[in-house]
Amino acid sequence: MNTLPAFDREPYLRELAATVLAIGTDERGPYAVLSDTILYPEGGGQPADHGMIGLSAVVDVQKRESEIRHYLAEAIPVGAAQVVLDWARRFDHMQQHTGQHLLTAVAHTRFGWPTTAFHLGDTRCDVELETPSISTTELALLEYAIAEEIHAARVVRARQVSPEDYAALAVRSRGLPEGHSGAIRLVEIEGLDLNTCGGTHVRSTAELEVVKLLGTEPIRGGIRLFFVVGGRARARMGEHERRNAALRALLGAPDEELVVALEAKLDQLKAAERRGRALEEEFATAVIDRLALGSDRILAHHFEDKDANFVQKAARQLASRVPSQVVFLTGTRDGVSCFVLTAGEASGFDVAMAGKELASILDAKGGGAKGFFQGKTSTLARLDQALAWLRG
Ligand SMILES: [Zn+2]
Repeated sequence: MNTLPAFDREPYLRELAATVLAIGTDERGPYAVLSDTILYPEGGGQPADHGMIGLSAVVDVQKRESEIRHYLAEAIPVGAAQVVLDWARRFDHMQQHTGQHLLTAVAHTRFGWPTTAFHLGDTRCDVELETPSISTTELALLEYAIAEEIHAARVVRARQVSPEDYAALAVRSRGLPEGHSGAIRLVEIEGLDLNTCGGTHVRSTAELEVVKLLGTEPIRGGIRLFFVVGGRARARMGEHERRNAALRALLGAPDEELVVALEAKLDQLKAAERRGRALEEEFATAVIDRLALGSDRILAHHFEDKDANFVQKAARQLASRVPSQVVFLTGTRDGVSCFVLTAGEASGFDVAMAGKELASILDAKGGGAKGFFQGKTSTLARLDQALAWLRG
């Protein structure tokens, strides 16, 4: 293709009458090659466009072997076809991508922080800046300086230059794809920035609406700065508002007191858990004290709403008090039941044999060692039968 593709000439074009020149299938699936296209192929940090060719959805667009392959949900025939761009997705990419140009230019010229990488994520973007740290104040100043350039509504335009002209220009980034030859595409933010780039951009910084810096984290000796632009900033603000409204209702506090209110609730929860554990231990001690008074050879008890840990601990405590008796404890919590069978050596009781038999009666999985047998089951419906066998 000698002439530039339509997405390059007219990034705001949303529909195009084109011809499907060739169809094929590769490891990514069925694809079509068009006479011209408004669908941007993934590259330069900008994700691929989505859209429609005829009746088929385009799920991916990639440059392969000097052609642009439009990967399709369903195969289509060669011939004339209407191409429709998923404009919402594209405009979002144009905002994020152009926002990154602006952020990079301002961070470099005003703060001396060069950009070394850019990622356009599904929900947020980030750049990696060559600086050991960025303070909260610097972050606020950077955001404000970017906002001023948005207010200035600077024209953003792309153009092709010859390699000779390119060499003479003050271009910020000199990254060209490997093996590049011929004309070079430059993207300019008038009066501010000149850069090589093959992506799609908004036509004025005013269309960025807002660049919101979200935060930083250290990475590879530099700083990773997260941000969102335009529609994403508004969507994010909307999500924050919905979340805050839900939290206000739950915590009964205004926005500025939500964190303090939640911290207080968590403290209350921890205190309640401590009290709960103390009560549970008191309860276990009381039950064990009562059971230990029993003179039957088999000491049995069922704990409702108690898990295997609790039942095991109780069984060990009780068994240590009654070395010549047999301890059989069960428990149920959250639909899972367990049993423990144990007896001291003085009892002369075969725990392993009896445990297996009980597991069989209770339809349980289990095992054990050294006079201790435990099992897990989904139901204790045959508990009476198990007890009868044990006592018989
Ligand atoms: Zn760009």
